[in-house]
Amino acid sequence: MVQATNLGFPRIRETKKIVESFWAGKVTEQAVDEAAVKLRAENWKLQQAQGLSQIPSGDFSFYDHVLDHSVMFNVIPQRFRHLRDGHERNFAIGRGIQKPATETQEKVDIEAQEMKKWFDTNYHYIVPEFETNQTFHLGAQVKTVQEFNEAKALGIHTRPVVLGPLSFLLLGKAAKNSAGLDLLSLLPKVLPVYEELFAKLAEAGADWIQVDEPCLGLDVAPAVIAHYHTTYTRLTAAAPKLKFLIATYFGRIGNNVSFIKDSGVAGLHIDLVRAPEQLEHVIANLNQSQVLSLGLVDGRNIWKTNLANALKIAQAAVQALGSERVFIAPSCSLLHAPVTLRFEKRLASKHAELFDWLAYSEEKCKEVHTLAHALNHGVDSVKAELADNARSIEARRTSAHTTNSAVRQRLEAIEPEQLRRRSAFPERQTKQHAAHPLPAFPTTTIGSFPQTKARAKFTKGEIDAAAYNEFIKKEIAYCVEEQEKLNIDVLVHGEAERNDMVAYFGERLEGYIFSENGWIASYGSRCVRPPIIFGDVHRVNPMTITETVYAQSLTSKPMKGMLTGPVTCLQWSFVRDDIPRSVVCTQLALAIRDEVVDLEKAGIIHIQVDEPAIREGLPLRAIDFDFYLQWAVDAFLLSTTGVNDTTVIHTHMCYSDFQDIFQAIVRMDADVLTIENSKSDMRILGAFSTHGYNAEIGPGVFDIHSPRVPSVQEMKERADAMLQYIPRRNLWINPDCGLKTRGWKEVRESLTNLVAVAEALRASE
Ligand code: GLN
Ligand code: ZN
Repeated sequence: MVQATNLGFPRIRETKKIVESFWAGKVTEQAVDEAAVKLRAENWKLQQAQGLSQIPSGDFSFYDHVLDHSVMFNVIPQRFRHLRDGHERNFAIGRGIQKPATETQEKVDIEAQEMKKWFDTNYHYIVPEFETNQTFHLGAQVKTVQEFNEAKALGIHTRPVVLGPLSFLLLGKAAKNSAGLDLLSLLPKVLPVYEELFAKLAEAGADWIQVDEPCLGLDVAPAVIAHYHTTYTRLTAAAPKLKFLIATYFGRIGNNVSFIKDSGVAGLHIDLVRAPEQLEHVIANLNQSQVLSLGLVDGRNIWKTNLANALKIAQAAVQALGSERVFIAPSCSLLHAPVTLRFEKRLASKHAELFDWLAYSEEKCKEVHTLAHALNHGVDSVKAELADNARSIEARRTSAHTTNSAVRQRLEAIEPEQLRRRSAFPERQTKQHAAHPLPAFPTTTIGSFPQTKARAKFTKGEIDAAAYNEFIKKEIAYCVEEQEKLNIDVLVHGEAERNDMVAYFGERLEGYIFSENGWIASYGSRCVRPPIIFGDVHRVNPMTITETVYAQSLTSKPMKGMLTGPVTCLQWSFVRDDIPRSVVCTQLALAIRDEVVDLEKAGIIHIQVDEPAIREGLPLRAIDFDFYLQWAVDAFLLSTTGVNDTTVIHTHMCYSDFQDIFQAIVRMDADVLTIENSKSDMRILGAFSTHGYNAEIGPGVFDIHSPRVPSVQEMKERADAMLQYIPRRNLWINPDCGLKTRGWKEVRESLTNLVAVAEALRASE
């Protein structure tokens, strides 16, 4: 029998409220636990009701599953060890803690553990910190075992999910006191603890266990693959009752598959949505009894699966392996998909055509079941489901609403010179400085200023459009006045009218639609609701001109126009899967190009096109980097090069490991680049110039994630350090990122100090 399975279920949106109440001190730890028990039960039952036979457990988390895993193995950095075991400590690891001093207690200020993007997703995990003398052990309560037992008590036999030892170590980093630690040198210490965990799971009655090794989707050195081999040979031998399913996702396993055959593992999960071409190669690398779990239902997107296509692939696998050796599954954990369509009332009633094309987690589980059922009992046994799916797929394919011939023609007609500025940077810089002189070390901000509640009132219908517009105008005026008082050189309007830097543009472009409940986890309790790109994207009307021109009218200083770049719009949306992402990105680029040109026409001479997500989209394998960076950078160029030499194009990036994208940044050919830098190593700036970056640059001089006000001295020291790598004429002084999560008081103080830094630098000219 082919098994209908799942790798993980979304959890965070539902726990958001209770977790945040706990942080606010409004509910007890017990209430939090009770909510979790209830939610887990609901999720298991829901998956069971969809007909899955292998349902995951241990996939639940309040904050992050990697954090939970670290805690389960007692990988708790020194600075948190004095805290009591429990939610409070776990949340402290994720968020840090700050408490003012009281009469009985000294002030507490503990920095959170680092957060990083989970592969190429917008989900962030907490990076494990390992020490040279790291010890691992299980506590009295073992989360994975507990949750397995919890499900068992409900009569549901689950498949426990555990982060595998190699990925656990490889996703981590050396703690500050352990620089130079070779992470894999910890394997001999961690494996006995895995053995203990697996023994407990076996004792509790588990049979299949899912061991996630997503690092197998990355480029892995042969020596590391040898570790996979010895690790799994050892772990499987120590747990003869368990069947290990190694799960990979987000890409192809490639030659890393080589260790599987004689490693003792019972099965392998592969992502056939991202990498359908790998099926044959993987089958050829399994032994005679290993199971293959086919990730056929897209866990990263919201579209219905083309069941007929998926069935063909599954049938080929069944033919090669036999039905006992095939599982059907989503491509990855459904953590990256919203929960259920049941509450999308507005889409269902107002956009019935589109609604019919969607599948969230609940519906995806159902699709998995339908596929397994068809394989086990013949296609006729699910005739109605398959027919309905085929009708829906065909309706989407032939819909008049997904294609726009004018957009297609415009794409066809793109000429190479539309991807080039008129002159090279040195010439532009001379012209720009002559046409619009700025003081040395110009100061600016990244765009947003502290947020107001007006938008929420407007969305709830408490104020009307006219009142709202008036309000936004007032906010802009306030923001401009404050910046003038602070004596900043290049101003911004503050982005008060923007809920979200992608959604704001999505709402103004054709080809986008918005869900009410399409929430997915981003970090901690924070969820995002990516807009949906369903059709050809194009701009009908200007999107930012009114606000920008109004803001400019209030000041004689230059006002920077603020746009979100095409790659970031793509990366932070659910993107249609019926045409290549590169094509969608090019459509977005043309829309933004129109806006850039209109801003210039309206007299705006500084235009910033934010691309914070360009690094996030980088594929998992180096061999695929160039292809992605080619179209991604081309899209940025297409969006920004329609202007005169004297117009200053800025771009902004954050959350970036710039390592792999220096060349790409150079090719983006912006006049000014502002980057998040206050926490990172200055040497990175040296690398920029080594890679041929010679344009202007503003590495952030303070971290906007913290309410702390940086002193003039500390920022001046940073700026001085920057000057060792950056020529004086190219250095801008600005914060790391937008200020929307901050309050006005600290913003005012921080920016006063920031401007003082620029003045001090000028004085030392
Ligand atoms: N302009 C945006 C802002 O300031 C940039 C946000 C970002 O980089 N994530 O909010
Ligand atoms: Zn940023």
